[in-house]
Amino acid sequence: ASEGPRPLVAGNWKMNGSVAMLKEPRLLAAMLKDVKLKADVMVCPPAILVRRVKSVLKGSKIKVGGQDCHWAASGAHTGDISAEMLKEAGCTAVIVGHSERRTNHGETDEIVNKKARAVQKAGLKAIICIGETLEERKSGKTLEVVTRQLKGSLPEGSTASDTVIAYEPVWAIGTGLTPTTAEVAEVHALIRKELSGLMGQDGAGVRILYGGSVKPSNAEELMSQPNVNGALVGGASLKAADFLGIIKVY
Ligand code: PGA
Repeated sequence: ASEGPRPLVAGNWKMNGSVAMLKEPRLLAAMLKDVKLKADVMVCPPAILVRRVKSVLKGSKIKVGGQDCHWAASGAHTGDISAEMLKEAGCTAVIVGHSERRTNHGETDEIVNKKARAVQKAGLKAIICIGETLEERKSGKTLEVVTRQLKGSLPEGSTASDTVIAYEPVWAIGTGLTPTTAEVAEVHALIRKELSGLMGQDGAGVRILYGGSVKPSNAEELMSQPNVNGALVGGASLKAADFLGIIKVY
């Protein structure tokens, strides 16, 4: 993992967190204060906590990201928030197309593409999530599905600085299961190849994160695979000590 773009370790809190939980990012910032980080570190709390987390992290190098946004910059979209709003609140990135959004909210590649474009237009990084279901893996469709999702979800004109890809096998999310290192390396190599085809030279600079049951005990092995440029971490990002155990790999 020493070659390639600077890694990114991003924590996805999902629908977890509270004012009481702000002690965790506060603790993380304190623990990382004098550490020379070889990776970017980010936490993505629920939108309503973004400003609070941002203020707790004041003076720290830890970045803040959103978990989703609408594709429009403003307007008649009750209950939604825009990338512009997340930016104003202090976010530098937004996760789009997480499998939970694709499943729970029917988000298609076309919708994810529009959301990613909106994030990029706001001047933020789009963390675009893709990954196969267990059924798709079992029927040998993984590479086909990942290619289709990548091509469908990646906006035209994407660059290495405004785009991050997160490969998250749906069956590995929150289950404690992970693909073998060979399976991870295979999919990440495919994504790298496709990115080069779609983006030319810039494709080599895009961070490709692995996500799905990353924890301190398996992070080292997963992060050392070729073309794995960091992690998108769910459950293990909620406690500062666990998240630190993953960040420490770098
Ligand atoms: P997990 O979630 O680390 O809890 O498996 C990862 C994700 O959904 O981003």
